[in-house]
Amino acid sequence: MALFNKKNKYIRINPNKSRLDVENTLPEVPDELFAKCPNCKHTIYTKDLGPEKICPSCGYNFRISAMERLDIVADAGSFSELFTGIAAPDPLNFPGYPDKVAAAKAKTGLDEAVLTGTATILGQKTALAIMDSNFIMASMGMIVGEKLTRLFEYALAEKLPVVIFTASGGARMQEGIMSLMQMAKISAAVKRHSKAGLLYVTVLTDPTTGGVTASFAMLGDIILAEPQTLIGFAGRRVIEQTVRENLPDDFQKAEFLQAHGFVDKIVKRTELSQVLAQILRLHAPKQVSGQSQTGGQVNG
Ligand SMILES: [Zn+2]
Repeated sequence: MALFNKKNKYIRINPNKSRLDVENTLPEVPDELFAKCPNCKHTIYTKDLGPEKICPSCGYNFRISAMERLDIVADAGSFSELFTGIAAPDPLNFPGYPDKVAAAKAKTGLDEAVLTGTATILGQKTALAIMDSNFIMASMGMIVGEKLTRLFEYALAEKLPVVIFTASGGARMQEGIMSLMQMAKISAAVKRHSKAGLLYVTVLTDPTTGGVTASFAMLGDIILAEPQTLIGFAGRRVIEQTVRENLPDDFQKAEFLQAHGFVDKIVKRTELSQVLAQILRLHAPKQVSGQSQTGGQVNG
């Protein structure tokens, strides 16, 4: 917010004070008060974004943390986290990598780029994973692969559906080939879960790219996406240089992918929990008659 940070040297609150005193007493406007929409470029009063963080001008869904996502989607208090505390690997002895992971942990409060566990969405129980782009761009390393694989194995054993919110820059380069192997590892777990007739839903959120798009993000039985989400494998410029063609403006946007059959439905953030609950309810195993009724006196 350059406009508000600019200090007006000609304002004098008290003519008896020195310029230094005046500068020190000028009100500061914290950056968090305003946000700039990456889509329509409008400056928005942060409170106007609401808890769902949607641009009131163009409807763009701002990137949110895994915890914010959990608050919006899951029933309050229903989440129980699974598969934490897996030891951090550094297979390439990559310079500065452990420090980067430690900084990301401190910044996000997460132990890795994906949050995994079980929760209910409007009463429907599911295994749930939410990726957080604030954690090294939610890149997929060995722990992300391990947590997601264990989640599918857990869901298979417990006969639960799986819902994953994807957001990722792709494979984590600091783990080299080991991060690429997670694509096959998670995909195999998805297949075992699918073979048992269990439901898997992905919700693609901004941005879903690279090895995540090329593996589990696109393996959902039903693939949802938030409006204007960036979804792709390679970057736009790389593709343009390779095919030597100009690509359409909405290339790699959720709307473009839906028009070309890669996305089933684009769902606004405000409607996500209702849509997910409806999908989960429709695909839930049939209850034995009377089992779902809670005990109690019939009024009359
Ligand atoms: Zn906007």
